Amino acid sequence: MGAHPHPGRPADPQDALFALDDLDTGRELRPAAGARPLFRDAPAARRMLSVRVIHAEPAAAASARGRQVLARFPDAEVVPVPSHWGIPDLHGNAGNIDRWVRTKSEVLVLGEKKTLTTRPNGRSADWIAPGAANGCAMACAYCYVPRRKGYANPVTVFTNIDRIIAHLSRHLARLGPKAEANQCDPAAWVYDIGENSDCSVDALISDNVADLVRAFARWPAAKASFATKFVNPDLLLLEPRGRTRVRFSVMPQADSRLLDIRTSPVESRIAAAGDFLEAGYEVHFNLSPVVLRPGWERDWGHLLQQMDDVLPGAVKAQAAAEVIMLTHNEGLHDLNLGWHPRAEEVLWQPGLQQPKRSENGSWNVRYRNGVKARAVETLRALVAARAPWLRIRYAF
Ligand code: SF4
Repeated sequence: MGAHPHPGRPADPQDALFALDDLDTGRELRPAAGARPLFRDAPAARRMLSVRVIHAEPAAAASARGRQVLARFPDAEVVPVPSHWGIPDLHGNAGNIDRWVRTKSEVLVLGEKKTLTTRPNGRSADWIAPGAANGCAMACAYCYVPRRKGYANPVTVFTNIDRIIAHLSRHLARLGPKAEANQCDPAAWVYDIGENSDCSVDALISDNVADLVRAFARWPAAKASFATKFVNPDLLLLEPRGRTRVRFSVMPQADSRLLDIRTSPVESRIAAAGDFLEAGYEVHFNLSPVVLRPGWERDWGHLLQQMDDVLPGAVKAQAAAEVIMLTHNEGLHDLNLGWHPRAEEVLWQPGLQQPKRSENGSWNVRYRNGVKARAVETLRALVAARAPWLRIRYAF
């Protein structure tokens, strides 16, 4: 996929779309007077994140965003670290799910993102933005978010959000308007802002996501996009003005109960779609990952029927979907056998899968070409029969 730089625009990296003074980062999300309190202060959110230890780079801790995060968790012990990458205490924990989930809930990392790079994508989005966080407080058994900070890989919040937004502004300014429609979007450059984290959970911790949503609301040539498995009603308080696309990931409830550890139930993700649309988000769905196991066609049929039954017409009118077949990984398989062998009974299917060497040299597995092609065809037919309003943006 190639970018379409606008020929008439200077490629000056300082060519931002608006004055950086207007970024408005550092403004804290607050409910309107008389409105309900923020969800992130509610017991359900505190169960997801009851932070006790924050490993912090000193500059990150001293920054405005860092101070906000520290103030949100006043009882947490702050442990200075020279770099968010090198925290020996966080490594290990393989195969110990109790420790692992506790670490996800009780540990945060604060750091500064040093290298800001926007990469071309062309499937989910036109571009992958530099993430404002990495790691996740949830624990999906198939998660491929790299486990660079121990197996638990708790959330790292990058505190230099204004640099990230300024970088995106310059990137967009260099591109200029999108000249050709594609499946990502007919008119806007789509930037995935949550490649290595779940933005709905990140928004429980800091206002980085709020700042990104506000920034994109002011960029008519661009759209932010993120996939999520968590319903965070605080996001409804933002004003995305149609410039942020939320992609609720869905799968049959039976798979989700087995595989999506700590996430919001699928039915609540579907139930939230109408509210998010009303709040000004574009709402898409990720049918992902599609896990082939006995009865998968029946259960996906039920799920699509349920979506057809409960989703408001306005959601259906603008919805689109990505279909992503499960890919798995040998190392993750070995690890999961230690804590969640039942998940591996469905995830690891050597009779259906073929190995593929990944970019980082590890062995991934994915469904064999013929198996995958037939499954994608079956799923397309199920969508056509049960949810014909759901345009499939791409399937792979
Ligand atoms: S929600 Fe996403 S990032 Fe978090 S564990 Fe699940 S797949 Fe990984």
